[in-house]
Amino acid sequence: MSVKNKNSKYDMDPNDFNTKNRPTWCTGCGNFAIWNAAKKAFIGLQLKPHEIIIVYGIGCSGNGCNFISTNAFHALHGRALPVATGAKLSNHRMHVIAMVGDGDGVGIGGNHFIHTCRRNTDITCILHDNRVYGLTTGQTSPTSDEGFQTKSTPHGVLEEPVNPVMLALSAGATFVARGFSGDVKQLTSIIEEGIRHKGFSFIDVLQPCVTFNRQNTYDSYRDVIYKLGDKKGYDSQDLMSAMKKALETDRLPTGVFYDVKKDTYEDGLKQIDKKALMEQVINNVDIKDLFNKFI
Ligand code: SF4
Repeated sequence: MSVKNKNSKYDMDPNDFNTKNRPTWCTGCGNFAIWNAAKKAFIGLQLKPHEIIIVYGIGCSGNGCNFISTNAFHALHGRALPVATGAKLSNHRMHVIAMVGDGDGVGIGGNHFIHTCRRNTDITCILHDNRVYGLTTGQTSPTSDEGFQTKSTPHGVLEEPVNPVMLALSAGATFVARGFSGDVKQLTSIIEEGIRHKGFSFIDVLQPCVTFNRQNTYDSYRDVIYKLGDKKGYDSQDLMSAMKKALETDRLPTGVFYDVKKDTYEDGLKQIDKKALMEQVINNVDIKDLFNKFI
């Protein structure tokens, strides 16, 4: 679908965000839907590739680094969010997105996740939540269902899974949503809203891994998913309502759970009040005295 705006000079197409590399994900992988939805969201917001930086973690989702044409950085496992934070602080006019997997984002990167939520830096984190380690061929991840048998847990997972939506809400994120790879239209609109949100936005995407997770499939999700928007009177500014919805496990709501305004971390930084950090002249800054303190 081409999303061209005839009323402006912006005439990009989602395909303009493709690199020369074709995605190498398994046929049917939920990553394709996230890839498509992200590109459509950029078009909806009339963003150009040079206005976006995507920081990728390690995992199948991280391979997206080779398939979307924007500024990009492939970070170490679990470290996408601190790198994204650094990118935002050095050029706060850039739209900064972190694409992370479940093992990457709420496993090894769990500590960074909590502190990025409470810091409210204006970045968008998209969690490719396939509830398994796909890149390393099928081990248990922090969001794997209890009882799920994998190579690393042949007798079934003993722990309860991390609930990423609940974790983000309790850690202080100001925009929290859940999307589904089987619904690109809704996912596109959630990503657009997340990028538009001023502050930290978190989007948990139910993303089937068709090769190593035969339990959390497109069909199994379709059986239990409903849209929050379908429930009249849902108030996305009420934290308690959002938490109550996040705790639902028999049925899974998708959409925006929580969306409130709050000062961002950058708002409190006088140093970048007038100019982005990267635009500031540092030739005449003498750091000799500072260095001497450490000698
Ligand atoms: Fe997608 Fe799973 Fe294949 Fe990775 S292993 S590309 S997550 S289907």
